[in-house]
Amino acid sequence: MVQFLDLLKVNQPHADELRKAFERVLNSGWYILGNEVKNFENEFAHYCGVQHCIGVANGLDALTLIFRAYKELGLMTDGDEVLVASNAYIASILAISANNLVPVLIEPNIDTYNIDPLLIEEKITLKTKAILPVHLYGQLCDMAAINTIAQKHGLKVVEDCAQSHGAQLNSKKCGNLGDAAGFSFYPTKNLGTLGDAGAVTTNDSKLAETIRALLNYGSHVKYQNVYKGVNSRLDELQAAFLSVKLKYLDEETGIRRKIATYYLNEIKNPEIILPEVTSEESHVWHLFVIRCKNRDNLQAFLQKHGIQTVVHYPIPPHKQLAYREWNKVCYPVSEKIHNEVLSLPLIELFDHLTVQNLISRLKAYKYKQ
Ligand SMILES: *Cc1c(COP(=O)(O)O)cnc(C)c1O
Repeated sequence: MVQFLDLLKVNQPHADELRKAFERVLNSGWYILGNEVKNFENEFAHYCGVQHCIGVANGLDALTLIFRAYKELGLMTDGDEVLVASNAYIASILAISANNLVPVLIEPNIDTYNIDPLLIEEKITLKTKAILPVHLYGQLCDMAAINTIAQKHGLKVVEDCAQSHGAQLNSKKCGNLGDAAGFSFYPTKNLGTLGDAGAVTTNDSKLAETIRALLNYGSHVKYQNVYKGVNSRLDELQAAFLSVKLKYLDEETGIRRKIATYYLNEIKNPEIILPEVTSEESHVWHLFVIRCKNRDNLQAFLQKHGIQTVVHYPIPPHKQLAYREWNKVCYPVSEKIHNEVLSLPLIELFDHLTVQNLISRLKAYKYKQ
């Protein structure tokens, strides 16, 4: 059986270094907001090419705290609108609603699965304060177009980089392509740790300082609370693991790109739509997502031949019970995507034979009524 993603296989090559990192944290006797967090923040800021990296507890908190900080700074207020793709991952949308801001859904481009820049301007109102481009499946949104629109209308651009660590536009990394960015280091992400973790990156010193206070009970100085903050600190232990994993991120992205290129060149089947790539540097292949009219049938066929696949994602945000208010609205592009997408195993396939087997199955597939 080819598993979709075997996390043990992902982390095992780094086992010795991860154990050493654990020993270091254990022996330091300092487990919260110490040198490991500081070091990782510096390393990741340097990696992204930004001035500030602030470690937080997870990716959802990273995004939530960015909007919370903009509110504390007086730049946004309850009821303001944030533009986001209708096929985004639910966490991107939760980060907006959690702040009493209103997510305004915009249909994605059917080829890139990312927010369609041509549909943004018609949705801008007096209440619009930000665009939240989600770099879905690891491919950058059209940031040139998005930043032009944002500048014209005085909007903030908050990137969701939870799936796109290291993706670049003209050699500039994501996390540095807008006003602020949220990252997740959940175990399955391209830069994944052994638990929950996240970070905010930005070049805005005021925003960085506000988020630093918010994540620690709203306090800059111990026992003095400026904001009604939260506890969303990044653990020393996760930070230590992340410093190990960060060293291998580019190498692992290289492997993802190699397998993706192989898939793109070899999978030839009129019933299967392959992902569109805008440029090599802009895609880090968090997921290799194909589309097929009879997706469930294809998934069952692959399963029968020992290949596990996953659907990212089966239900669009506007069809979720959590967002009942949208349940009757129709977003046809988004719905088509959710009905047809299927993610193939990627990082799992280190050996040529397995890739070859998977490709031959995909070539042979044909829908039979
Ligand atoms: C994973 C993910 C998040 C949330 O990250 P967590 O660390 O799980 O909270 C947000 N946005 C996107 C696009 C994601 O893939």
